[in-house]
Amino acid sequence: MKAKQATFTISTAKPGQQPPATLPEIAFAGRSNVGKSSLINTLVGVSGLAKTSRTPGRTRLLNWFHVEPPRGKPLYFVDLPGYGYAKVPLSMRDSWRPLIEGYLRDRPTLRGLALLIDARRGAEDEELDFMAWLAELGIPVLTVVTKADKLGKSKRKPAAQAIKRALGLDHQPILFSALSGEGIADLWRAIGKLATK
Ligand code: GDP
Repeated sequence: MKAKQATFTISTAKPGQQPPATLPEIAFAGRSNVGKSSLINTLVGVSGLAKTSRTPGRTRLLNWFHVEPPRGKPLYFVDLPGYGYAKVPLSMRDSWRPLIEGYLRDRPTLRGLALLIDARRGAEDEELDFMAWLAELGIPVLTVVTKADKLGKSKRKPAAQAIKRALGLDHQPILFSALSGEGIADLWRAIGKLATK
């Protein structure tokens, strides 16, 4: 299962540069190295699409992708810069928070955010802080456990359950692996639900 079509649209540093707010949007966020680029590429079925977010100079920008999902209407995927570069809680370096906050607060077409958490790390202080912040902003969150293949089969559901408990979620996080393809259909379904809310 993959997107019918997916293309890179633009990288932005300021609201004025953002595409017109005409399509529903799903944002993707997570600690750097969580597997965000791999997840986006695997989900849409275009290898290398999200690597633009890691080319020098683009790591601090919002990266927009125009996506025609397997079912339903076109949307934007918005790849947010990864956090976790410094060791302070939330590791909100000076530029990260205002950039992300400006987007999350003011974008009328934002339907929800997929928060990616590494299966082997689980939810840490940064995810707890981020979740609290998202709740304050009233943004629906979809939690995804990445690199599920790195855990033995019997450990995957318990890991998802632990994240659910730690973050006080009302939904079971989706187990995802870019390597095996686990979770792709579940994730598309969840994105579809968010996008049409
Ligand atoms: P990003 O910094 O969040 O965009 O992370 P990347 O997608 O670049 O992935 C970071 C590292 O994790 C790379 O070495 C990937 O090959 C690896 N990785 C990403 N997804 C998976 C996965 O599902 N399974 C495994 N085993 N490794 C993964």
